[in-house]
Amino acid sequence: MHANPLSRFLFNTPDIELWPARLLRARSSRDARVLSRSTQVLRRKRDGAYLAAVLPEGVIGLLPRWQRETGIDDALDLIDAGALHAPHASATDLPLSQVEARLDALGLDADAYAARTGLSLVAEPAWLAFAGFDRYRRPLWLEAATARAWHGLHAAAARDDVALDAISGYRSHAYQLGIFDRKRARGLSLDEILAVNAAPGYSEHHAGSALDISAPGEPPAEESFEGTAAFDWLTRHAAGHGFTMSYPRDNPHRIVYEPWHWRYRPAAG
Ligand SMILES: [Zn+2]
Repeated sequence: MHANPLSRFLFNTPDIELWPARLLRARSSRDARVLSRSTQVLRRKRDGAYLAAVLPEGVIGLLPRWQRETGIDDALDLIDAGALHAPHASATDLPLSQVEARLDALGLDADAYAARTGLSLVAEPAWLAFAGFDRYRRPLWLEAATARAWHGLHAAAARDDVALDAISGYRSHAYQLGIFDRKRARGLSLDEILAVNAAPGYSEHHAGSALDISAPGEPPAEESFEGTAAFDWLTRHAAGHGFTMSYPRDNPHRIVYEPWHWRYRPAAG
């Protein structure tokens, strides 16, 4: 019953994601009844709330006043346009205007941040491909070519008896902004947050072209990963699969050493 090819894609709009219903856990018995009959669920990106579900007979709300949710028109337009039948290989990235406005509201000087780090704003793709599950059994979403390359990398490592765990792939601007909002609400200053978290909009995770990798039994996102057989294998074989470590020691972006963070960038030509 999961042969529906749509269940392998996440369709993206600035505020709302359309998820395959089969990949979501019901949070109430009402959710469970609706989810079992739906193809897609509209999720608010900021906090992951389920707003509404797409059923054969139409869209059914899962939250009160879902019709007045910010960005709901963009999401409903996708459904009305039949855009969910298959993703377009040529679909363009989402615009950056929204994250720029949010950074302004946050009081972040985007030009100064870009100059200091050498990073640029990273757009979100219009859709993402299902790349299996991560260590925590959460769906792993990646840009399509990156998803294929990750499967190749993972399988090649397994043939050499090396297990690679995916920790995290695609993450939205809204998700990263949510982290900042919560920390600000706890009284942290912007500079204090920026010392540990990348500014929303500037992470390679937004493009779905990077993922954090670990090994079974290893904690996520720790420098100790560099001492593992998995890391040793990656340093020798990842490049052959198009993956490079984005933030080696003493990188020009002055981002902390991240031996777990690998980005897919196909060789030119
Ligand atoms: Zn990362």
